Amino acid sequence: MTDTTRGASTAERVIVVGAGHAGGTLAALLRQGGFGGLITVFGQEEHLPYHRPPLSKYFTDGQPVKWLRDPDFYAEQKISFLLGQKVVSLDRARKTVRTGLGDEHPYDHLVLATGATPRLLTLPGGDLNGVLTLRNLTDAQHLRSAITTDGALAIIGGGFVGLEVASAARNRGTEVIVLEREARILARVASEQLSTIMTSLHRDRGTQIRTNVQIAGLRGHNGSVVAVQLADGSEIACSSVLLGVGAIPRQELALEAGLLCDQGIIVDDAARTSDPAILAIGDVTRRPVPGTEGHRRLESIPSAVEQAQQAASTILGVPQVAPEVPWFWSDQFDLKLKIAGIVAPESQATLRGDPATGRFALFHHRDGVLSAVESSNSAAEFMAGRKYITHQTPIAPLRLADAATSLRDCVLV
Ligand SMILES: Cc1cc2nc3c(=O)[nH]c(=O)nc-3n(C[C@H](O)[C@H](O)[C@H](O)COP(=O)(O)OP(=O)(O)OC[C@H]3O[C@@H](n4cnc5c(N)ncnc54)[C@H](O)[C@@H]3O)c2cc1C
Repeated sequence: MTDTTRGASTAERVIVVGAGHAGGTLAALLRQGGFGGLITVFGQEEHLPYHRPPLSKYFTDGQPVKWLRDPDFYAEQKISFLLGQKVVSLDRARKTVRTGLGDEHPYDHLVLATGATPRLLTLPGGDLNGVLTLRNLTDAQHLRSAITTDGALAIIGGGFVGLEVASAARNRGTEVIVLEREARILARVASEQLSTIMTSLHRDRGTQIRTNVQIAGLRGHNGSVVAVQLADGSEIACSSVLLGVGAIPRQELALEAGLLCDQGIIVDDAARTSDPAILAIGDVTRRPVPGTEGHRRLESIPSAVEQAQQAASTILGVPQVAPEVPWFWSDQFDLKLKIAGIVAPESQATLRGDPATGRFALFHHRDGVLSAVESSNSAAEFMAGRKYITHQTPIAPLRLADAATSLRDCVLV
């Protein structure tokens, strides 16, 4: 069996609140880094950590749950999971957490990895059967049953999760209508150019997309939703509704304990909160992001993994690895989107490839330096773009536009 008792004092206790992607990754990294103390992970859900990205992409097709690690791994590594247990308060002076069962547990290092929860809309009819959100496995099971060929799915919100579900549902022959409040889908998270391309793709595959739409309420029949009511008085018939209007950080424990929060627990690039004994990682945080000012909330697996690494280094007392340019992915129909960086204000976009083939990359640059790359089925463009953003490499946009010019030859030397 792996020796898990190297390194730090065996008396040290780490408590992780949240058995999600960030919490599960941290526990594994701590052992990998030689942490020999006690690791206890509290999870409100009944499950060991699993991958959430497939829930909006493949789970509705019947694919099984994808676990983060095999259950044996945690037993071998002496990582304790207390599942189905919500931590309800922290006592920073006594360094303890209290669970909903009333038990108190002491810590030397506390890591908050509580993630985020879907934003709800306070709409008339919001509590009808068939009105769904998507964050966890239970939600995904409900959604799987809602995606049928004899009903219509109305998706409120044209963000990544909503569009992924739209694509999965269309693939199964479900009628889908996306209702977006803004003038374009993906308004918060992607460039206008990518929004335009994705709008065409979804429409070509039969998804209805309506933008600039105000929702007035949901109408039900016998307790189940049957229509979305719009502010202009019209109605859209449906058999289920997915609210895909973003997620809010689960920062309540931190707030009540007086930690610095601002729509997310504020952390530095070593995952430290305003209390030296408490770290925070993943979707619940607002963190520094390379190449941008201030703090931002990133909701992505790469960010959760990077912060788990930061927290592990802090607890182990080893140097931090260099910060990463933020990136994430999204799968919609046969497009594998990979996006790195953050589109800078007043940047210009250069398109390489042809969206009609599904293979393209949008490079966003200002003064010959890239701030972001939005790619589809273009691994080489994504990798090169990410590297050029990291190193602020000067590039020649006109050359990038010509797919026949090698990516290396687009760099100005
Ligand atoms: C449907 C969907 C699709 C996604 N697709 C992508 C994608 O394609 N690419 C990508 O990069 N990212 C994607 N994401 C985002 C990614 O899954 C998240 O960024 C990641 O899961 C964040 O990890 P986390 O550990 O911070 O939060 P989570 O994974 O949400 O875990 C937090 C856990 O903490 C538990 N918890 C909360 N409060 C308490 C408490 N008080 N006590 C005990 N337990 C508590 C919660 O129940 C939850 O299990 C997707 C997310 C969703 C929901």
